[in-house]
Amino acid sequence: MNEIQKNISLQEYNTMNLAVFCSKYLEIENENEFINHLESITNNEDILFLGGGSNILFTKDFEGLVVKNNIKGKDTIRETDEWVELKVGSGEVWHDLVMYCVRRNWGGLENLSLIPGTVGAAPIQNIGAYGVEVKDVLTQVEAIEMETGKKLLFDNKACDFGYRDSVFKRELKGKVFITSITLRLTKTNHNTNINYGAIQKVIQLDYNNVISIENISNAVISIRQSKLPDPRQIGNCGSFFKNPIISASLFESLKNDFPTLPSYPVIGNSSIKIPAGWLIEQCGWKGKTIDKRYGVHQQQALVLVNYGKSTGSEIKTLAMDIQKSVFDKFKVEIIPEVNII
Ligand SMILES: Cc1cc2nc3c(=O)[nH]c(=O)nc-3n(C[C@H](O)[C@H](O)[C@H](O)COP(=O)(O)OP(=O)(O)OC[C@H]3O[C@@H](n4cnc5c(N)ncnc54)[C@H](O)[C@@H]3O)c2cc1C
Repeated sequence: MNEIQKNISLQEYNTMNLAVFCSKYLEIENENEFINHLESITNNEDILFLGGGSNILFTKDFEGLVVKNNIKGKDTIRETDEWVELKVGSGEVWHDLVMYCVRRNWGGLENLSLIPGTVGAAPIQNIGAYGVEVKDVLTQVEAIEMETGKKLLFDNKACDFGYRDSVFKRELKGKVFITSITLRLTKTNHNTNINYGAIQKVIQLDYNNVISIENISNAVISIRQSKLPDPRQIGNCGSFFKNPIISASLFESLKNDFPTLPSYPVIGNSSIKIPAGWLIEQCGWKGKTIDKRYGVHQQQALVLVNYGKSTGSEIKTLAMDIQKSVFDKFKVEIIPEVNII
């Protein structure tokens, strides 16, 4: 069983590549190990569960216990000719899971290819890309309640998913440790989604218009590689802000003042989603570099980057300056998607 270590660098455990330390650090290999350590874990005032560190901005050293999740395992728990139900350990790497399913021609995760991080973090902000969210295929989340050590089961409804949101990001934040998720994936009659023009174009040009799980996954990977910075080369957390969802009336008045403002309907209600990246770009931030150390990515205004020697608090200040200038110009609040610690 792993023991708690002291004063550990978290630089290689956060994709922003920030040079921060934590005072205590524990790696968890399986559920029993977590339960056996529960008392010593909860003895700490501050606890941080850490997956791949791809959605966290550390603004300072973490004065508490970091619990790094390495729980592995993929088990087919039910199967018919049409679908398969797969239970996956929360410490598995998300993209490895996607590739595992794509290789078997199991449908559902292909649009979520190449999202960094672990399986256990996927339901927390209901990861999504190219018209698909993890909620579309998730049937169950298993977690351990910190206060009691009890195992809790959440069906899809109990997760209360929203856009980059769930009960785990709100009421249950820090109160439960997710140990596995279960997904229902198609074996035939795949419910593919190529509504995004960019995917359609790649499928058409590179794959002779053949829509398959593998081709969609490959298309998503090549689109992502062409437009998003690789955290192994430039520190980043992906999209720093969520796309704001505004009322139809506010949208109409903004559209009057800014006729080129793009928009997407929100399924199920009359609100409108507008791209935070566009708002940020209109405020002149795209490509802005501060002191050659950090800034806003050249191609993606939504992505804040650390070129190597920045601190998390500098990046937080930059994010706040961006928020303010977007509000001053558009009267729209943009909210960070990233967990700021
Ligand atoms: C280049 C890049 C591209 C990205 N693209 C996308 C995208 O397209 N769509 C998208 O939705 N996201 C995207 N992200 C964000 C990120 O990859 C996801 O949010 C991912 O799910 C985070 O996983 P993680 O394991 O790194 O979580 P971490 O950053 O380690 O943790 C995130 C939060 O979850 C909590 N947590 C982690 N594991 C557990 C657990 N087992 N139990 C309880 N709490 C836990 C942490 O305490 C923290 O609050 C991108 C990030 C990068 C760097």
